[in-house]
Order: sequence, then structure tokens, then C-alpha cells
Amino acid sequence: MVKLQGQIALVTGASRGIGQAAAEALAQAGAAVMLAARDGALAAKVADGIAAAGGRAAGLAGDVSDFASVTRLVAATRERFGGLDILVNNAGVIQPIGPVWEADPQDWARNIDINLTGAFHGVRAVLPAMVAAGGGTIINVSSGAAHRPLEGWSAYCSAKAGLAMLTRSIAQETKGRGIRIFGFSPGTVDTEMQVKIRASGINPVSKIPRGDLQPVDRPARAVVYLCTAAADDLIGEEASMRDEAFVKRLALG
Ligand code: NAP
Repeated sequence: MVKLQGQIALVTGASRGIGQAAAEALAQAGAAVMLAARDGALAAKVADGIAAAGGRAAGLAGDVSDFASVTRLVAATRERFGGLDILVNNAGVIQPIGPVWEADPQDWARNIDINLTGAFHGVRAVLPAMVAAGGGTIINVSSGAAHRPLEGWSAYCSAKAGLAMLTRSIAQETKGRGIRIFGFSPGTVDTEMQVKIRASGINPVSKIPRGDLQPVDRPARAVVYLCTAAADDLIGEEASMRDEAFVKRLALG
């Protein structure tokens, strides 16, 4: 599978979970991949695994809530691989979990800083060059929580709802400039985030047995698909692993 040969991707939150699997799948599809997470050693370890399997990858520490850190990641990606064609805004946190009237204001704001402002930081850092070049792909990892409130998740739901609107705003503003922007809802996936959710016991998602969660390779495959021309009709929209028609396309693609 070399659909993305010559492409260069930056994946945030790539040290584990969906971001790790997406980075591995992008590399398998031929892209060179920069992996970022606050734990840079872990991101580098995942990148080493990709390189050992014959892919092109490097890992770096970066915090998406800090714009200067994101601009450094983008610059490092361009320096290392010679460009940046794909940004996967995947980094995310679920905390704080709990009633809105008990939430620590700083913790609540921190969730928005990472899940919403963090994605904006990525977009803000990559778009000038993408617009100038007339092309580029941005995938904002969304959630079902963007579209329905879930008890105890006021910060997460608000951030992801904001992110869904950010995706639509970017689609509107970049129309006709060659920018391929997508929201992507990965389904309910077996990651460390779901371990935290299960431990909270607070809403129906926390009651889903681990065995019913999706493996990370499913959304990873979808991320690769969205980077190809086969997904061009979905530009500006939110693709979802809960949408049977979209999942069918992955099997075909
Ligand atoms: P995860 O296993 O907890 O992984 C989260 C990743 O994000 C880690 O690599 C983490 O590394 C990184 N990260 C967190 N805060 C960061 C920051 N400030 N700067 C840079 N990296 C940061 O979570 P996941 O389930 O794979 O989630 C990935 C994305 O999918 C998130 O956006 C999440 O909201 C979304 N999603 C997940 C599910 C699901 O069922 N799992 C469902 C819907 C949507 P560090 O801690 O080292 O920074």
C-alpha cells in the first residue's frame, strides 16, 4: 500500500492509541511521518518501531496547547522531511470528568486548550504554507460527543463541538484553495482514554465493556483513506466510523 508515497504528515498525540495507529498506517501507506506527544520519548519509540518496519518516521515532544511548541513541531517536520502535506490533529484528553458544578475551572479550561485551541494551533501553523502552495490535508479528530451531551463530560463535549465548528469554518474560508479539511469521528475505540472513561463509571460510554470497543486499526485505516483523492467528496464534512456508508467505502478503498 503506497498510496501516500512522497507525502509528509504530522500526527499529534501519536505516542499511543488512535494517533499511534494512524501514524503507523500513514507510514505503511508511504508517507513520512512526524509523531508528536508531550512524552517525546514515547513518540520517538513509536517512530523507531515504524522505521524498523521500513517506514520513514521521527518522534518529538510537543504540547498542542502551546502555540510556540506547535510551530516548532511544524518547523521540525519541514526541516526533517522537506515539507508538510498532512496534519492530523489527534491529540486529546477527556479530563476533567464530573458534574459541571464541581469542575475545577483550570482543569476545564485546560481541556479546551488541548482539544479545541490545540487543533487551532496546528491549523494556524500549517495553513499559511498550505494556502500558498494551493494544497494540503487537515484531519481534525472529532467525537460523537461533539454532537450530543454526555453526563460528566461538559468540557470534552464543548471542546469537540467547537472543533466541529472550527472544521466547518476552515472549510468555508479555504474553499477553492486546495485545502482538504475533514472532521473525523473514530467511533468508540480501545485506548487509554477509554480506560479513564471506564474508571469514572459516570455515563453510558463508561459502561461499554472493553470487548465491545473498536480496535485502533479501524480509525487508522480511515485516516489514510481521508488523505487520498477517494475522499474528496467528503471535504469540509465530518466522516464517522458510525456511518455505515463511510465504513463500507473503507473496505472498498
Ligand atoms: P489516548 O490513548 O489517551 O491518547 C491521547 C494522545 O494524545 C497521547 O499520545 C497523548 O500523549 C496525546 N496528548 C494529550 N494531550 C496532549 C497535548 N497537550 N499535546 C500533545 N499531545 C497530547 O487517546 P485516544 O483514545 O487515542 O484519543 C485520540 C483522539 O481520538 C482524541 O482526540 C480523542 O478525543 C479522540 N476520540 C477517541 C475516542 C475513543 O473511543 N478512544 C472516541 C472519540 C474520539 P501525551 O499524554 O504524552 O501528550
